[in-house]
Amino acid sequence: MPDHYSEPSRASRIDGMPPGVEPLRPPRRRRQERPDPNDDLIVEDAAIVRVMDSEDGRHLLARDVLGRDYVRLMRLRMEANSSVQRGEPMYVCSICGVAVRIRRSATRPKFFFKHRHEDGNCPAITAGLLSQEEVNARQYNGAKESRLHRRMKDWICECLQADGRFTDIEQEPTWKGALTGERRRPDVRARYHGLPIAFEIQLSTTHLDVISARRDFYLQEGGLLFWVFAEFTTDYRRMTDDDVFYNNNLNAFVVNAETVAASLDAEEFKLECVWTVPTPGNEVSGLHRRLTSFHELTLQPQQQRAFYFDFDARRQELQDAANAERQKLRDDVEAWVGATGYYGETANEDWAQFRARFRRQGVELPRYLSEFDRPVLTMLYSAKHNRPWGQDQKKLVEIAHRVAGAYKHHLTWFMHAVRKYGRLDSMRAEGDPSKWQRKYAECQAEYRTNRAAYAPRREHQAVVEFLFPELVPLP
Ligand SMILES: [Zn+2]
Repeated sequence: MPDHYSEPSRASRIDGMPPGVEPLRPPRRRRQERPDPNDDLIVEDAAIVRVMDSEDGRHLLARDVLGRDYVRLMRLRMEANSSVQRGEPMYVCSICGVAVRIRRSATRPKFFFKHRHEDGNCPAITAGLLSQEEVNARQYNGAKESRLHRRMKDWICECLQADGRFTDIEQEPTWKGALTGERRRPDVRARYHGLPIAFEIQLSTTHLDVISARRDFYLQEGGLLFWVFAEFTTDYRRMTDDDVFYNNNLNAFVVNAETVAASLDAEEFKLECVWTVPTPGNEVSGLHRRLTSFHELTLQPQQQRAFYFDFDARRQELQDAANAERQKLRDDVEAWVGATGYYGETANEDWAQFRARFRRQGVELPRYLSEFDRPVLTMLYSAKHNRPWGQDQKKLVEIAHRVAGAYKHHLTWFMHAVRKYGRLDSMRAEGDPSKWQRKYAECQAEYRTNRAAYAPRREHQAVVEFLFPELVPLP
């Protein structure tokens, strides 16, 4: 909530209240009339559901503005009323933009917003519920009139004028689509080295439909839509801010009093760039910030993006590095098994190292090599290479016979691999083809009566899936 009504609510006495506020009821009736501090102070059937804060153009729920703190509300009510009388209303109706005051229910200590002029023109009153689209369209117009919005436009123009790289600087020009004849009115337009740029200030909850329609328009026009925020913090980010942020390579730009001063000082357009950095494991960092010159930014009109930090490129680098690390581990295990490293002098040390590397990939190996079911690897590598891998035999079909004899619980995965790697026909043709045919038929017959003997052992499935991604899903 904006600062001007976020006073602490500790005050327990009301006698310091400004004059003109309705006093509390006499003690005798107080019990019944005092609002429950756990209840919203808004009436249940309020006609005005949202109001716009004229300072920054935010649309707020009337329920939130009125809140639950009676003391705070009494003061806010006074302040809001005076602001209407001064002609600078704190709040206007989100739908029609007419100034609103806070009124009290005639019968209960409950409150609501009421138009200064109730002339029956506000659709919030006359038409009842508006469609989301109508609300969005109207809300946007309201926000256009906020003081902060006007100030932001002036600031951007000042900064652009101070920077010699921009030409044709205009506030709220009409931009007519060359192809469609559609019209837009960007907050500020300028040319930057020939590229037309539409600067739009993101203050209110601009609906995703509006954001995407504008994007499409400027893309089609060969221009660039450049969003500018008045603030961009983790706490105050709204969903619509993320629609802009995530579609802009996770970069956002802020213009405020400090950036304007810095721009005028340096005679170039400076903005505060806010971005996030990808971290390993596909997470994102907190927000980074830096005062950046516009000419340091990468502009990509084809993607309607402008950024200082290339999030996508960095994330790709991290992914490539992670993929390379995974592939290296696969290759190393394959070579180790092929060279019967598990019989070597350093077999236990090798295993410990593999175990640590697998753990980084989220896969757990048994602590000791002796606990691992090694044949599952030798037979799958054999299928992959179409010849015994880390074994003395010459032909793949010999491995097949061994699996069908001594390792029936691996036969399902082995045959799955043989098919996946396209070894079925060549393996069948090896040696005396009728032998394997007979053996396999025997297995199939036995499988029908004793399925349990052929059930794959799943304790190392995660390891197998990691080493043989091309065999996933395993049967
Ligand atoms: Zn209204």
